[in-house]
Amino acid sequence: MSGPSFRALDDVEYGRVEQVAPTIRRVIAENPSKFTYRGTGTYIVGHGDVVVIDPGPRLDSHREALVAAVAGERVRGILVTHCHADHSPLATWLAAETGAPMFGHGPHPRPDPALEPEPDEPDADTVIEESTDHDFVPDHATGHGEVLDLAPGLVVEAVHTPGHTSNHTCWAAELDGARVLFSGDHVMGWSTTVVSPPDGDMAAYLDSLQLVIDRADDVLWPTHGPARDDVVEYVTALVEHRRAREAAVLHAVRSGLTAIPDIVAELYADVRAELHKPAGRSVWAHLTHLVAQGEVEVEGAGLPRLDASYRAT
Ligand SMILES: [Zn+2]
Repeated sequence: MSGPSFRALDDVEYGRVEQVAPTIRRVIAENPSKFTYRGTGTYIVGHGDVVVIDPGPRLDSHREALVAAVAGERVRGILVTHCHADHSPLATWLAAETGAPMFGHGPHPRPDPALEPEPDEPDADTVIEESTDHDFVPDHATGHGEVLDLAPGLVVEAVHTPGHTSNHTCWAAELDGARVLFSGDHVMGWSTTVVSPPDGDMAAYLDSLQLVIDRADDVLWPTHGPARDDVVEYVTALVEHRRAREAAVLHAVRSGLTAIPDIVAELYADVRAELHKPAGRSVWAHLTHLVAQGEVEVEGAGLPRLDASYRAT
């Protein structure tokens, strides 16, 4: 299997406002990492009357870049795809600064402590990029399919796409004669998406990818990485990649592996060690999905936790 064709994003200049389409500008925050690639891409849509999508991480340099980017314009709405710390924290500041309302699916739910107790000390890996911004509360909680008429020529539709997080929402619009979807972290241009239980959900994620395939928008604008204009082909390849990974996890369990670290060691032998921890969470997501499908069960009939012992049914 060839797998999804990821693409690079070159020539990144942090803080610079880049006109990426006639009505779309992008400013990239200087928070590059193994999760955020070159950094968070904040989109500014429109001219004069604008909406801002995912204002980004709490970084002074990014805050200053956004102030400069929308100087002399009226921010009519702030759209948030989900509340990870590289997406939503500056929303509240920008709302206070501009008076614009914030839109999003809703605040991030607290994880089920039965599945995963909250750590006393968050580990350094997850503190910045994939930690959760529990403070974010939208002024208006949008439901799937809700249409927001924010300014002349600026009509945006909420497309609820749970999976990466349960509250993930993509934002659709017709811009410059094209049907575009701001895809947040649901579909990224450069890599697969982290699906990390208990809030991340593989079944929901696969359904949400199918939703994007069925919509067949002309262009995806992800928060991380380049735009994709090969939407159906690319997202279909992402689904196939996950299905192949899930089959490999099932095969590993059927061959007698019971613990997630052992399955990771087997399946991710060729992957950098720093990625084994997120890989473990991805395997956990697949196992949870396999348990729901009745292909795998948890030893002792317990919950499908990260530290559980799994076996084939
Ligand atoms: Zn995220």
